Amino acid sequence: MGVAVLIAFFDAVRHWLALHTGTLHGGPDIYYNFWSGFGSDLGEATLISAVGLGVYTGVRKVNCHTKGCWRIGHHPLEGTPYILCRHHHPNVPTEGASHEHILEEHRKYKEARDGRNS
Ligand SMILES: [Zn+2]
Repeated sequence: MGVAVLIAFFDAVRHWLALHTGTLHGGPDIYYNFWSGFGSDLGEATLISAVGLGVYTGVRKVNCHTKGCWRIGHHPLEGTPYILCRHHHPNVPTEGASHEHILEEHRKYKEARDGRNS
């Protein structure tokens, strides 16, 4: 018994502590990875929220102004500030039009415009 045994004992304790407090065997890395992982998840969540909000705002801006309508509004309704989808716009056919029909509509438009202006 003597100082040597005491030193060996403390050495063992130090080693045990080192092992269990994570100053050896990659312990700190576990904590580091946990926190950095958490942090990046947090960043990701923020990013997703920001993108989601941006998309939501964008959709609110471009979609049909009819309440509850999610379609993209392509067609401003003349004389109103509203932009409507083809389903809600009164003058936009909901089904495909033939070329003749489109030309006919265009001709009517020109007639109306020229009639108004002359
Ligand atoms: Zn609509």
